[in-house]
Amino acid sequence: MENIFDNLKELQEILQRKYQLLSEKKEIPKSLATKKEMVARLKKNYIDKNGHAEKKEGKLNRLKEKLAEIETQREEYEKSMEIAESQREYEILDKQIKDTNDKEQNLRKSIRKEEMELDELRETIRRSEFLIKEQEEELNLEKSKIDELLDVRNAELEELKQKEDKITPTLTPDIIFKFDRIVKNKEGLGIVSLKNNVCNGCYMTLSASFVNDVRREKEIKFCPYCSRVLQYKDEQNIATEDYAFDEEEAGGLADLVKMDDFDI
Ligand SMILES: [Zn+2]
Repeated sequence: MENIFDNLKELQEILQRKYQLLSEKKEIPKSLATKKEMVARLKKNYIDKNGHAEKKEGKLNRLKEKLAEIETQREEYEKSMEIAESQREYEILDKQIKDTNDKEQNLRKSIRKEEMELDELRETIRRSEFLIKEQEEELNLEKSKIDELLDVRNAELEELKQKEDKITPTLTPDIIFKFDRIVKNKEGLGIVSLKNNVCNGCYMTLSASFVNDVRREKEIKFCPYCSRVLQYKDEQNIATEDYAFDEEEAGGLADLVKMDDFDI
C-alpha cells in the first residue's frame, strides 16, 4: 500500500505539471488575438478605401468625358459663328459659347478637386498597404515565437506521458480516472494525509470507523467530503512530513479559534 501511495504522489506531480502545461498552452496563443484583430481591421479598411477610390476614378472619368463633350460643342459653336449670317444668330451663338465656357470652368474645377482627393486617397492606401505588411510581419514573428513556446511544452508533455505510462499500470483504471479528476479539480492536490480524524485536504472531521478503514489500508479510500485520496498518518509522521504545510495553514486555523473564543 505504501508503494501505491508513493505512486499516487508521483502521479500527482506529473498530473499537476501536465495541467499547468495544458493551461499555459491555452493561454499562450491569446496574445495573438489582439494583433490578429488589428490586421483584420486594417485589411477591411484597406478594402473599403480601395472601393472608395474606384468610385472616385469612375466619377473623374465621367467628368472628363463631359468636359470633352462640352469642348467639342464649344468648337462647333465657334465654327458656326464664323459663318453666322445675321446679328441675331451671332448673338445667340455668342451666348451659347459663354455658357459652355462657364460649364467648362466649373467642370475643370470639379476635376481638379476630384484629382486632389484621389491623390490623397491613393497616398492613404499606400500607407495602409505598408502598415498591413509591417503588422503581418510582426504577427508572423510572434506566431513563430508562440510555436516555439508550444513546442517546448509539447516536448515536456510527451516526457510526462512516458512517466505517466510507467506508473499507471500499477494502479486500476478506476483509481486513475478518479485521481486524475481530483488533481485537475482540486488545485493539484489529489492525495492528502489524515491525522487526528481530520482530512488534511478539506479539514472535515471524519467518523472513527471511516478513519479505521483508512488506517487499515486494505483499499484506497477517498475523503467523503473533498474526494481526495486519504493516507493515514500517525503522530510521528505528522511532526516531520507535514510540518511545513501545517505552519502555512496555522494562521487560518488560529482565526477560527479566536472566533470560537468570542462565541460568534
Ligand atoms: Zn477531505
